[in-house]
Amino acid sequence: MGIAGRVVIVTGASSGIGEAVALRLAREGAAVVLGARRAERLDDLVARIAGEGGAVAARACDVTRRADLESLAALAIERFGRIDAIVNNAGVMPISRLDVFDVDGWDRTIDTNIKGVLYAIAAVLPQMKKQRGGHIISIASVAGHKVNGGSAVYAASKYAVRVISEALRQEVTADGIRVTVVSPGATESELFGKIHDPASQKRLEGASEIALPADSVARAILYAMNEPDAVDINEIVIRPQAQE
Ligand code: NDP
Repeated sequence: MGIAGRVVIVTGASSGIGEAVALRLAREGAAVVLGARRAERLDDLVARIAGEGGAVAARACDVTRRADLESLAALAIERFGRIDAIVNNAGVMPISRLDVFDVDGWDRTIDTNIKGVLYAIAAVLPQMKKQRGGHIISIASVAGHKVNGGSAVYAASKYAVRVISEALRQEVTADGIRVTVVSPGATESELFGKIHDPASQKRLEGASEIALPADSVARAILYAMNEPDAVDINEIVIRPQAQE
């Protein structure tokens, strides 16, 4: 019980929720293995966690590349000998109405938010089955519970994360593996600043004013992880009180 000493992979750890999760879990005594594409940002985070006495390793990882996730899983085993949990956090949100035809954005969303999660599951599941235990935590969204016009592909990707996770949960109960989906509402991060479609920027105006601190999402993850292994928290929805 508890996460001290547990080995946890976090994807998309270079900013926002992933960075907050890495810091929070490391401060609680977990060994964290961090991946993202911006290696220099990871280097800064590694220095910060190591400076606080935490156990940490990192490797550049693009979740749209299956080999990168296999390499991140291998790093966890090389450095810490096992994989107790993964937080599938890496994600993109280039939202716009379908009639804007941002086909590149659709591809990026599907490749990162859906295929990235599948590749991560493929990278860690054999090790977790061998250990006869593990915890696969994926970040969906309130957009994975209710779709709004202008968010079709992003919402579809987050519905997919929930569907994949529920099927996975049923498939791995006998292996002692837990499966959790955390669905945040508006949260402080770099995500909103990366939206380029003017109508979507306008639609989300005000969201950052009410956004949750990223550490609130990290603490929700910590709650699920800290429960005894026989307790599987499957779904957490967390949003600002002021969000509709
Ligand atoms: P950020 O943009 O701050 O963080 C996204 C992270 O994902 C970055 O670390 C980025 O790192 C990483 N990432 C993006 N693409 C890839 C890739 N191909 N390979 C590896 N890493 C990648 O936003 P958030 O912290 O908000 O996003 C984290 C998760 O939370 C996402 O899944 C998002 O959909 C979800 N979410 C966020 C909400 C919010 O309001 N902020 C609400 C609901 C869900 P790098 O660019 O260095 O690769």
